[in-house]
Amino acid sequence: MPFEKKDSLPNMRIGNTPLYEINKIDGRDFGFKIFLKDDSQNPTYSFKDRASATVSAYAKENAIKTIITASTGNAGSSLAGVCASQEQGAVILVPESAPLAKLTQILMYGAMLIPVKGNYDDAFDLSIEATKEYGWYNRNTAFNPLTIEGKKTVSFELYDQLDFNIPDRIFVPVGDGCIISGVYKGFEDLLELGIIEKMPVIVMVQSEKSDNLIRNINSSEFKIKQATTIADSISVDIPRNFYMTKHFINKYKGEYLTVTDDEIIEASKILSRNTGLFSEPAATAAFAGVMSYKKMNKLPDGSKNVVLLTGSGLKDLNSVKKILNIPDSIEPDIRNLKKLMR
Ligand SMILES: *Cc1c(COP(=O)(O)O)cnc(C)c1O
Repeated sequence: MPFEKKDSLPNMRIGNTPLYEINKIDGRDFGFKIFLKDDSQNPTYSFKDRASATVSAYAKENAIKTIITASTGNAGSSLAGVCASQEQGAVILVPESAPLAKLTQILMYGAMLIPVKGNYDDAFDLSIEATKEYGWYNRNTAFNPLTIEGKKTVSFELYDQLDFNIPDRIFVPVGDGCIISGVYKGFEDLLELGIIEKMPVIVMVQSEKSDNLIRNINSSEFKIKQATTIADSISVDIPRNFYMTKHFINKYKGEYLTVTDDEIIEASKILSRNTGLFSEPAATAAFAGVMSYKKMNKLPDGSKNVVLLTGSGLKDLNSVKKILNIPDSIEPDIRNLKKLMR
């Protein structure tokens, strides 16, 4: 890890998140195994805390007082929370359309919030300019290499939690391609240390409405299609970690697929009602990926398949609003309840 002392890390429980095994969906057994890595259990409720912790620890050891980031919401709320616990300043640039819960977190943690008229890519570019102008430390994903170092810890944990075995497949939701590169980096570290003998197959899952990484992975010319997915955390026009992700996918024969926004919402429902885990759409995209593999019979019996659940469903209620049917209220009288029960 790129810092000297363990106590440079924030005094928060980051990482060491639970891994749950399920082998049934809606009462039906299946022959393979699904393991859910619940990273919504981080202090600011997303996977991003792993990266913020590493960046913040490095800043602390190098007497850096202010950290800036561009974010679709989670990196920003994560950095804001971590900086609050470390007495560091945080400057957060987000697209103005970022979900209310994420904006609320940023403000409650006392960071400087700057919503930008434009999308994540506009916020990203402005944050780089601001970094040059003010000399702040920049946490941007795919810009600060220490984010990958923080994110790789999930691979160490998976190896540990699977009793020193690698899984067969790991489904990762992808926007910029930093989380997936972190997962690769972690297993590559283990491989190079001779702790594991081969790499797991890592499956990149993108929304069909934000698939710039997958669409361009094998083409010589990079073409952008504007992202419009409801899964805001993976809604990205320019995947900032494109080359590293492409390198890992090619080197280790990674797989990839897209899922539709309807499949994402459906996967959210299936996941929640079967497990009690409520994840945000970006995270359930990965679960939709595993469901899609299941449909195509691509998961051998006995195989171990991990899904990274990268963020909490409470962070983005708007995107599930259209499937919510909140019942009308009743007078608190048992006769009304009986009518309903009929
Ligand atoms: C950031 C994020 C992702 C995507 O990570 P990338 O590094 O951009 O590929 C997925 N899910 C959630 C919840 C996130 O916050």
